[in-house]
Amino acid sequence: MFINKKSGDILKDAEVIERVATIFEKEGSNAWFIRPAQDFLGNKYNAEDFEQNFDTLDVWFESSATYSYVFRNESAKKRADLYIEGSDQHRGWFQHSLLNSCGTFGDAPFKTVMTHGFTVDEQGRKMSKSIGNTVNLEDVIKNYGADIFRLWVTCSDFTQDLKISTGILSRIETVYRKIRNTLRYMLGALNDFDKNLEQVNYVELPIIEKWALHKIVEIDEVLLECIKAYDLNRYFNTVYNFCTGDLSSFYFDVRKDCLYCDAKNDLKRRAYRYVVDILFDCIVKWLAPILPFTCEDAWQAFRNISSVHLERFPKVDSNWKNDDLCNEVEKIQEIRRSVNTALDIARKDKVVGSSLQAKVSLFTEDKVPYANDLEFWKEILIVSDFEIFKDGAPADAFVSEELKNVKVVISPAEGEKCNRCWKVTKINQSGVCDRCQRVLDSIN
Ligand SMILES: [Zn+2]
Repeated sequence: MFINKKSGDILKDAEVIERVATIFEKEGSNAWFIRPAQDFLGNKYNAEDFEQNFDTLDVWFESSATYSYVFRNESAKKRADLYIEGSDQHRGWFQHSLLNSCGTFGDAPFKTVMTHGFTVDEQGRKMSKSIGNTVNLEDVIKNYGADIFRLWVTCSDFTQDLKISTGILSRIETVYRKIRNTLRYMLGALNDFDKNLEQVNYVELPIIEKWALHKIVEIDEVLLECIKAYDLNRYFNTVYNFCTGDLSSFYFDVRKDCLYCDAKNDLKRRAYRYVVDILFDCIVKWLAPILPFTCEDAWQAFRNISSVHLERFPKVDSNWKNDDLCNEVEKIQEIRRSVNTALDIARKDKVVGSSLQAKVSLFTEDKVPYANDLEFWKEILIVSDFEIFKDGAPADAFVSEELKNVKVVISPAEGEKCNRCWKVTKINQSGVCDRCQRVLDSIN
């Protein structure tokens, strides 16, 4: 840098800079201290008029000034929402940027700094060719796909060092498949779905449909919190647990019979598809930033318009939130868990084969939701017959650890297996139950 002695201005001349660069290329930067100033200035300027500057700058100086040519200048004194780098930059880029910006603008160039750890092997060791524990990330993408690679980052605690190995990646692959299966199931359940024709008013929805909508609001709230806190791990796990626990093991499971066997225009079936459509919309949009390819595939397969990555996050209706209703469904799920354990034992003891061959007798003095609605309980428990009593449980009735006041007895349901829905009940000469006959008549 040359400074004009009279005006104090810094000399800004491309020819001079180019000349300095050419000399440095050949002789190294030490030329600055050895050669006379005139060698750099050329014929255009007189070395007498300039002061040559011999200060040295830290090599990180330009990177610490990135803000000044990316988003911040005199007219727009903006600050970056986030600076993100590895934990080695606490004394590097973060600190330099802070000093540089405080010196020139009076404050930090960022609102938040996020630090992540380094990639290490399963035992937490540094990757090294001599140990043979290196994982080539290009191979990971080739073998598992970029979505699984991104999911690995999401599932890791990035504030610490991130562990990677083929074992860890296979576990992530299993997690990924569960999400993929949930999306595939929903795409199947929504086959031919027409939003306009299958619209159902909220008040008409059955309790577990209302519960599913309540869960959406609840989860959306948690996800927004996670985004604010950059807690990707909890973000993904919240959606994952919702898909595998609440949906696959409960809601989708319970509604399989309705989806496969009820008439197309049946209110409950329409209500189910109406809710699955909303669930699909939310889950694909929630996961799009983490699994961009998978979510785009699912989106294109169903919505067939634009791209999910041009969408906003789902707008959920806060009126769907209903804590009382949610508590009631949780009570129902508690009983269901108890019955499922009793069914597992009965299957092992060869009392029944599948749950649809079973009759469930429930003994409890507790208040049971929908106690008089036997059809409701048959569907929730996926059994063919159900009865409920206040007392009189046999001594060998099943009692779970979780629910001591509810006793369960499993016995084979009476009747024959319907050829269409596989429930054991009264069937006609065509081999189907009353419900299935009605549906078949409506199709014919
Ligand atoms: Zn049937």
